[in-house]
Amino acid sequence: MITRVVLLCSVVSCGWCQTVESLVERQLGSILTLYRHVHANPELSYHEEQTARLIAEELRKAGYSVTEHVGQYSNSTQICYGVVGVLRNGSGPTVLVRADMDALPVEEKTGLPYSSTRTYRSERGETVPIMHACGHDVHVATLIGVGRLMAQIRDQWRGTLMLIGQPAEERGAGARAMLSDSLYQRFGRPDVVLGLHTDAEHPAGTVGVAPGPTTASVDMIDVTIRGIGGHGAYPHTAKDPIVMAAEFVMALQTIVSRQVPPREPAVVTVGSICGGTKHNIIPDEVQLQLTVRTYNDRIREQILAAIKAKAYGIARAADVPTDHMPVVYVRPDEHTPPQHNDTALAQRLEHIFQRVFGKENVYRTEPTMGGEDFAYYRLGGAIPSCFFRVGGVNPAVYAQAQTSGEQLPSLHSARFAPDAEQTLRTAMRAMIHALLDVFSSR
Ligand SMILES: [Zn+2]
Ligand SMILES: [Zn+2]
Repeated sequence: MITRVVLLCSVVSCGWCQTVESLVERQLGSILTLYRHVHANPELSYHEEQTARLIAEELRKAGYSVTEHVGQYSNSTQICYGVVGVLRNGSGPTVLVRADMDALPVEEKTGLPYSSTRTYRSERGETVPIMHACGHDVHVATLIGVGRLMAQIRDQWRGTLMLIGQPAEERGAGARAMLSDSLYQRFGRPDVVLGLHTDAEHPAGTVGVAPGPTTASVDMIDVTIRGIGGHGAYPHTAKDPIVMAAEFVMALQTIVSRQVPPREPAVVTVGSICGGTKHNIIPDEVQLQLTVRTYNDRIREQILAAIKAKAYGIARAADVPTDHMPVVYVRPDEHTPPQHNDTALAQRLEHIFQRVFGKENVYRTEPTMGGEDFAYYRLGGAIPSCFFRVGGVNPAVYAQAQTSGEQLPSLHSARFAPDAEQTLRTAMRAMIHALLDVFSSR
């Protein structure tokens, strides 16, 4: 790394000060302004029109070949706001960097001077507040900063840099939409895929990475427990789906605890249960919404089969007619695969981050049962990829919380307010050093 910094200075011939660090410092004010603009103007999943346009304009200005509206949502005529910026810079590897662009239906309570006051009018006529509560504004600003700097220092690397502004991450739809619109066929199949996420549990100035499992696979499952409705006073003439649904929820609890090997991480959660209209009416059916998280395809299949078996078993035990069996629907368009960071690549990046930021500022991330559709870009492991984290908490706030034991606002919280300057500085430095290393090592 030291060699590269020296090389950078001599080749760019702008003196010793022009290391990656000093170039980042020079960009920081402008990137911070961009960040505040994006933060104040968040857009919900599927509506990232202005954010996408901003990325496109900025990357064009920086010399990238930019294509907008990349992506095709399944079963939908909705416009996809995917942006692809490509900088071809001689022969060498193709590296993809992805930033997600969408915000959340959260009413901001950070008190920041650039807080969002944006709202969205839902299909039902409700006014929905919008906030960048997951740090995707950091990711957008970082992508633009990295794009500018990699173009400025193009003498220092050879290859193709592909920058992606991805919509609809929070809905698990954007990455798949872009890939199914022939992303790799149109713009080239990357040799390496990189992405980062703001971390609400670590101080700004730190970077987290780990080889192997990083984010879990996600499935969304709709279950309809069907019975035969009737009068609440004559339950013997009905087949009560409320009682069956209650049994079903409890039966699900033994899938992970009794059927999955104890060392395999897995979650089955019932997030919604809905049925009935009145005290004394036994309804015809009850609807449930479940989510399943795992890291292992075999375990995932086992759990999905067990959910069906439990539902059917309970219906059979209640003597429900065969044409009233439950319906278990695994939503094909809401599946996200697990992210496994490529071992060699993640170890390499960890090493670089330790050199750049100091060992004490690099932490090992723990696998989470949360999902991230970044995992799609690796094509099931065919392409080496690494998803790392950048601490976002103001260091003073972090230190105080460590002492007081106070809980810091998590991602998706209305009070999540990253230390923008230090987070952006760290994110840009981390991604640029990662890219320079990847370009030079392949
Ligand atoms: Zn999120
Ligand atoms: Zn996120």
